Amino acid sequence: MLELHDNTYTLQNIPIADLAERYGLPLYVYDADTMKRQFDNLTNAFSGLNMKVKYACKALNNLAILSMFRAWGSGLDTVSIQEVELGLLAGFAPQNIIYTPNCVSFEEIQQAVALGVVINIDNLSVLEKFGNTYGGSYPCCVRINPHILAGGNYHLQTGHIDSKFGISVYQLRHLLRIVKTYSMKINGLHMHSGSDILDAGVFLQGAEILFDAAKNFPELQFIDFGSGFKVPYKDDDVVTDIPDLGRKLTESFREFCTDYGRELEIWFEPGKYLVSESGYFLVKTNVIKQTVSTVFAGVDSGQNHLIRPMFYDAYHRIINISNPSGTPRVYSVVGYICETDTFAWDRRLPEVREEDTLCFLNAGAYGFTMSSNYNSRFRPAEVLIVNGQDHLIRKRETMDDILRNQISIDEKIVFAGNK
Ligand SMILES: *Cc1c(COP(=O)(O)O)cnc(C)c1O
Repeated sequence: MLELHDNTYTLQNIPIADLAERYGLPLYVYDADTMKRQFDNLTNAFSGLNMKVKYACKALNNLAILSMFRAWGSGLDTVSIQEVELGLLAGFAPQNIIYTPNCVSFEEIQQAVALGVVINIDNLSVLEKFGNTYGGSYPCCVRINPHILAGGNYHLQTGHIDSKFGISVYQLRHLLRIVKTYSMKINGLHMHSGSDILDAGVFLQGAEILFDAAKNFPELQFIDFGSGFKVPYKDDDVVTDIPDLGRKLTESFREFCTDYGRELEIWFEPGKYLVSESGYFLVKTNVIKQTVSTVFAGVDSGQNHLIRPMFYDAYHRIINISNPSGTPRVYSVVGYICETDTFAWDRRLPEVREEDTLCFLNAGAYGFTMSSNYNSRFRPAEVLIVNGQDHLIRKRETMDDILRNQISIDEKIVFAGNK
């Protein structure tokens, strides 16, 4: 956790300023203690059930972090064959990896089958192809869209009626016909109604729908409730009450298992919940620019490194690491990209001076993994703090990374057309 003593911000007793000095800026820093705390919170809330965590690695996919989650007993949630491969490289057993693709080619699904991972199918035509190809020889899970609405904005909702995700619960009869025709073995039911679920109520609603559907599938091994747990980004944010959810869902899951006649596993696939708060994105203030209407703090980063504020309108708290006790003033914090890449409008911060280090909070989830090379900028380095020690887990990119895979063509060919 970030702490402030004697005007110095530290993580696990390491001054942030030292990290900035040692590794340069911009820099992603992750605190392993916070990830472990979140992992334990979730595990403890469901200690009464056979619960399995499948960490959604699209949130933060560094191998060092994947390995850490594996060591803690987590499985992995993946959405592409490349994520599956990363998981295998990090040492996850194939059966502990669930692959939940959407609109990928059937060839990619076949590759995942060849690697032995748990397959989650979210479309009837794919289910039919899968049945036609594998029959009952390779089990699969089906992703149901229960059409319940999670909170959050449009991008983050996946349960609504025109969502591209999942097989509508109203298509259950069609689904069952396919399963029967091809003698398929359905080992799991899944729902993931999107990020930012406000309360246990949404989960329980979805749960009832899945429990009802489950009666039609006698060979289930697990029910996967996906994710969407909300973490605080602002001081007054409403967050998912995990112990409360644990109590309520444990009770209804127990009842369901009694009805079903067998104890099933209950799975969750959190991304944001496990890693968001562990991440800190450090940037340097390049310029302070006073215009007629506002004061801009322009930093050495932008939408290329942390796109959530621009893409989702996400709020990220900002801290002035270099001047904690400065007189508060109002700034618009913007990036260096040739776009309107505004991190924050009218933010009250301790006086920001040129060269000051600013820190974005909640930068662990969908920060680095959504970064790009736009404007031919390098992606930042990543540092993991574990047991009081900082470790570089990804080098800063260099010009070689920008040039990798580019192939120049002979100028004579280019000019031949100009004659
Ligand atoms: C993105 C995703 C998750 C993780 O969502 P968070 O909001 O980060 O917890 C889980 N499951 C699936 C299938 C996903 O696509």
